[in-house]
Amino acid sequence: MGADDIPGALTVQDQWGGWVMLRLEDGWCAALDRHALRCTIYEHRPFLCREYEMGGSECIGERLQHFGHQSHGQTGLTT
Ligand code: SF4
Repeated sequence: MGADDIPGALTVQDQWGGWVMLRLEDGWCAALDRHALRCTIYEHRPFLCREYEMGGSECIGERLQHFGHQSHGQTGLTT
């Protein structure tokens, strides 16, 4: 994934030839520690992840689209 120092095993090339974070079977990013719900490559996370505001309007929109509510995904926590 370029000069981002992201391990190649955590990325995949999309249909347009761009490199994106790999999603595992559960749909979550491969870099996510599922127990702590923390990014394991936080210091090297992609630009988009740095720009995405947790709990911001776009974040809440995504949660609503994918989960039908504002929860933090599979944890049952809500904002
Ligand atoms: S911040 Fe980005 S790289 Fe890190 S777990 Fe979340 S989606 Fe994956």
